[in-house]
Amino acid sequence: EARRRAAERSRTRADDRYVFHSWSAQGAIDPLPVAGGEGAWFWDEDGNRYLDFASQLVNLNLGHQHPRLVAALQAQAGRLATVGPTFASDVRGELARLIAERAPGSRGAAGTDGAAGAAAGDDRRWRVFFTNGGADAVENAVRLARLHTGRAKVLSAYRSYHGNTTTAISLTGDPRRWPNEVSPDPHVRHFLGPYAYRSAFGARDDAEEGERALAHLREVVQLEGPGTVAAILLETIVGTNGVLIPPDGYLEGVRELCDEHGILLVTDEVMVGFGRVGEWFAVDRWGVVPDLVTFAKGVNSGYVPLGGVIIGEHVARTFDDRVFPGGLTYSGHPLACAVGVESVRTFEDERILDRVRTLGADVVGPRLREIADRHPSVGEVRGLGFFWAVELVRDRATREPLVPFNASGAAAAPMGAVVAAVKERGVWPFVHFNRLHVAPPLVTSAEDLEHGLAAIDEALDVADGYAGV
Ligand code: PLP
Repeated sequence: EARRRAAERSRTRADDRYVFHSWSAQGAIDPLPVAGGEGAWFWDEDGNRYLDFASQLVNLNLGHQHPRLVAALQAQAGRLATVGPTFASDVRGELARLIAERAPGSRGAAGTDGAAGAAAGDDRRWRVFFTNGGADAVENAVRLARLHTGRAKVLSAYRSYHGNTTTAISLTGDPRRWPNEVSPDPHVRHFLGPYAYRSAFGARDDAEEGERALAHLREVVQLEGPGTVAAILLETIVGTNGVLIPPDGYLEGVRELCDEHGILLVTDEVMVGFGRVGEWFAVDRWGVVPDLVTFAKGVNSGYVPLGGVIIGEHVARTFDDRVFPGGLTYSGHPLACAVGVESVRTFEDERILDRVRTLGADVVGPRLREIADRHPSVGEVRGLGFFWAVELVRDRATREPLVPFNASGAAAAPMGAVVAAVKERGVWPFVHFNRLHVAPPLVTSAEDLEHGLAAIDEALDVADGYAGV
């Protein structure tokens, strides 16, 4: 009773009265008051504990309160808590070096298998422009591409999310763009990327989907006018819109298409970079080297806001004598960069990339496939490393989604019931449309992974109830 009253008090406190929350009708939300966290777990003010299968917003890669990250943050705060972007900063420089050395095509990107190994010897040179998060990373990548090519147009995919500033939300290919089209970037065009399970191209398998999606993109470029396109920007693996892994050959084909027409390839690695799929950058899986790479989230697990653009030297050189007309007061903030430096070192000392690959392949993937076999409501599971989607359907044969596209209110109730059942079991999932995503912190133990997946297994009985059985 005391706990209930305490919770009641906290919910009606300052947050409720004064905070204006993201993506919400302010009267329709009741945010959970979080009191603390450790590793893959957090707890509310009632003492209810949750296993964080969403890594907050898929950014908490090293988990809550990692002692090394907290210590690095405290040490930097004691040393120099802030410094302007016009000055040089040791931690900013060090983080830029660590990132450049691990960027696609650099020596440090090795440790990957297959085609990526071939690119690993290139030692491509990179520079890093730091931003406050992902949206402004995208914004500045597009600025760089436009100024470098002298072209305005940028192509991005339907079923994508790129952030919530003007150009980034215009590039976004999901319904969050629609209400923002009152003031869009006028030079954005969308295309369809590969999505074999719901192929727009009538493809029967992954390989065919990749080929047809590439042919479609080639045609879009042709019809838009290749000489008018500054960049093709895509999420290397589509994140929020479905954990869509490009079939082998697709990204290689997009790279070739860009090269044919002097178009820059920008890969948005905000969600999948820094270990989410067991690579520094997801694009390393295919050995493709983009011209620009955006990052944020996992770079320092979000302990202090940080993002940026990794800029190929050939693009950076455009601004050797010409002024780059962009900047941010907090570009490369020392508190954020100090945590970033410690995070890269921790990844290596704790062998995070290896554990994500191994546990993803040996624990998460097999258990999710077993779950898919048991539950008629599961249409498909797909993913890599610590990044998976469970796509829920009413009917496996027709693939009718458990809830309609962009459903809200009563139409979304079946998903609401499934999510409530997962949360009742002390697991916090990531949810989008008719999908549960499994995206735990990269430090989650095998036992905790099993625990969270068992909760999803049980909760899917609720989904089965809607699946006509
Ligand atoms: N790009 C991708 C792929 C993302 O997933 C996100 C955020 O979820 C963003 C960009 C925007 O990042 P931020 O919210 O830090 O602005």
